[in-house]
Parts: sequence; C-alpha cells; structure tokens
Amino acid sequence: MSRGLASYACFPEQSRGRRYEEPAPQMRTAFQRDRDRIVHCSAFRLLEYKTQVFINHQGDLFRTRLTHSLEVAQIARSLARNLRVNEDLVEAIALAHDLGHTPFGHAGQDELNACMREFAPAAGGFEHNLQSLRIVDELEARYARFNGLNLCFETREGILKHCSRRHAQQLGAVGERFLNHTQPSLEAQITNLADEIAYNNHDIDDGIRSGLLTVKQLCELPLFLRHYEQVMAAYPEVQGRRLVAEIVRAMINTLVVDLTETTRDNLQRVAPGDVDDVRQAGPLVSFSPQMRAQATELKQFLMENLYKHYKVMRMTTKARRIVRELFVAFMDEPRLLSQDYRHDDALLQARAIADYIAGMTDRYAISEHRQLFVM
Ligand code: MG
Repeated sequence: MSRGLASYACFPEQSRGRRYEEPAPQMRTAFQRDRDRIVHCSAFRLLEYKTQVFINHQGDLFRTRLTHSLEVAQIARSLARNLRVNEDLVEAIALAHDLGHTPFGHAGQDELNACMREFAPAAGGFEHNLQSLRIVDELEARYARFNGLNLCFETREGILKHCSRRHAQQLGAVGERFLNHTQPSLEAQITNLADEIAYNNHDIDDGIRSGLLTVKQLCELPLFLRHYEQVMAAYPEVQGRRLVAEIVRAMINTLVVDLTETTRDNLQRVAPGDVDDVRQAGPLVSFSPQMRAQATELKQFLMENLYKHYKVMRMTTKARRIVRELFVAFMDEPRLLSQDYRHDDALLQARAIADYIAGMTDRYAISEHRQLFVM
C-alpha cells in the first residue's frame, strides 16, 4: 500500500470516499480514476480557450487556463514526489483547480460576482473556486447514475481552495474546514503553492513576450535580479527569449527547492503521523520566510505592472462589459436561453445564467455577445 509514500500522505485505500458509492477501479487507484475523469470531462477541454492574463486570441504562445493547469500539475508532481506524498492526487487537483474559471480570467469572475450580488443578492455571488467544485459535483453530465464526476473527498477538498462561511455551511464535509479552521491534506496545500509558482513565473514570461514588461524593469526585484546575474555569469552572450527562459526556469527551480526544504523541516518538527494529523496542524507546506517575502514582492510587482497595465486594463474592461451585458440580457429575458438553462424560480434562474456564462470560452462569449447585440 505504501508505494514509498510517507505515512502522512493521502492513500487512496483510505479515502473518505465518493458521494455515490462505486466499486473500486481495476488496475488503477481511486485518485488515478479521478485524474482520468477530469481529463475526459467537457469543462477540461474548455480550458484551452479561456484567458489566463491575455485573451486567447491575442497570441498563440501565451498561457491559457489549460497550459497553466498543466504547468501547475508538473510543479505539483515534482513537489509531491520530493515530499513523498500522492502524485496522482496532486495531479487530479491541479488539473481541476481552474475548471470553474469564467471567460476572460479574473476580470470575468469579478464581474460575474458583481452581477450575481446585484441581481440575485440571496444567491451568494460567484466564486470561481466554488464553481470548480460545482462543475465536478453537479454540472458535468456524463454518468447515468449521478450528476458530476463523483470524485473522492480528497480531490474535492483540494479543489475547494477558498470558500466563504456562508457557502461552507451548505457544502457538508468538504466545507467543514472553513468553519473549524483546519487545514486540507498536504497534497492540497502543495497544489495551492504550485499554482502560485506557476503563475508568477509564466506571467513574467508572457509579460516580457507581450512587450508589457522588460527584463530591465524586472531587475528591480531581488528574486529576479539574482537569477538574471547567475544566468549572465554562466552565459554572458545569452539574450532575448533564451535569456528569459533561462531566468524563469532557474527561478522555478529555486522556488521548488525552497518549498521542498522548508516543508521537510516543518514536517520533521510537527511529525504528523497521518493525514488527520496534517489536517489538525497549521499550514505545513510553505516557503522559507525570506522566499515568502520575495514571492509576495513578485506578486505585487505583477499586479502593479502587468495586471494593471493600461493595455491589459483595456482588455479587462471590455471583458467585464461583455460579461455584464450578457448577464443582464439573459436576466431580462430568460427566453433568450435554451430550455436547459430556464427555471421558474428566480434564484435558480440567476444561478443557471451564471453557470452558462462561466462555462463560456473567451471566443464563445465574444460571439454570443455579438449575436445578442449586433444586428
Ligand atoms: Mg490557477
């Protein structure tokens, strides 16, 4: 059973189970089955055409939600292997963690949240994390016996990264930790930080590729500068895309090594015997304090200089307008929607509209908007 895993890993044989009981899989573990179900679902395929920072059609080389999720899975698997916890589980969580994202990245989700709060205050807004869980629990329609993908508790626990108290109260076991302030498994904690490592680094890469950030400007950041100097010392002639790629790969490595070493120390100090001890302890997966500070500084830099760059703001403002106008048009006239999305109950109707819009890719939202608003 151990497969070389530490006692504090998640073991599929000891899973807290699925919402609907199913026979154990043959020739693969319960977490491998979860990963496979995620890769085969419709929401996963939509990730290819959803924005990370740059709208999908702005350039073929920019990250999309799909390539972002694959990078998260890669980093999370390395960390899981280093820490002797379950690689299949981190992979499943990583591939599902962004399924609930709206078109147009954070701009889309913020606007959909604002619309839900204004037009259906009792519905409790829109949270992309909760939407990822809603997709795997309710919205995927692939099985005769149940809605959703019927994933294991541990996978669902990892997908639900944040959650408001209000929603946590309605979610049963998977919401409990937001009420009693316990932690999720190490696999969930790892995937959460792998997500941060992935987006900080690929957004630097995409930011430079787009021309909105420069290497010189990034050298204001000690974390970036240190790696820039290391690369230049080793390869004084290197420049352009190769220089950026060398810096980014070295930074990812530094962050992964720091996270691994700090977490190993934490595990040694706390010595959890099993995953329940992990859930009762404080957060165990962490960067060293110095690296945490530098990673936070990098995050703030990207916020100021990339996500709030005027060229990105022009795109996100347009995106928000599209999401709002779609939402309002459907709320005013639900008969614009196909029968599957119509409800007599006002709250269910608002939620169905949010589900419909959240499920759109960037290009689908743009074409739907054009169809509704242009003669
Ligand atoms: Mg992500």
